[in-house]
Amino acid sequence: MHELSIVQSIVDSVTESLANYPGARVVEVRLRVGALAAVVEDSLHFCYQIAIEGTPLAGSRLVVEHLPIVMHCARCGQDVVLESVQSFRCPDCGEPLCDMRQGRELEIEAIEIEEAPVPAGIEDQP
Ligand SMILES: [Zn+2]
Repeated sequence: MHELSIVQSIVDSVTESLANYPGARVVEVRLRVGALAAVVEDSLHFCYQIAIEGTPLAGSRLVVEHLPIVMHCARCGQDVVLESVQSFRCPDCGEPLCDMRQGRELEIEAIEIEEAPVPAGIEDQP
């Protein structure tokens, strides 16, 4: 199940970025996943729940944004979205496509955190 190692590295990198926000809590992690990234979303969610236990990410949501495959057609000079991975041909001119512009992504798009509350008595000194 390679989703577990993917999720583990996500948790590690989010935990690292939290170093600048002591006491902060992660609310949501948004992932961008390309159609060819070869991950099973159910497994991602399942592994996420396991991996975040006991980390600053505990209790956070994992949101997966799916990216379609985008290829560049040299003949049309445009980027085209492929509806299916069955046919790597330009939907407009039929040219075989091999110049991929999007589809293999597996990256963190955004992290939403809740910063630690400011301890009482610090900010409203007379
Ligand atoms: Zn074309």
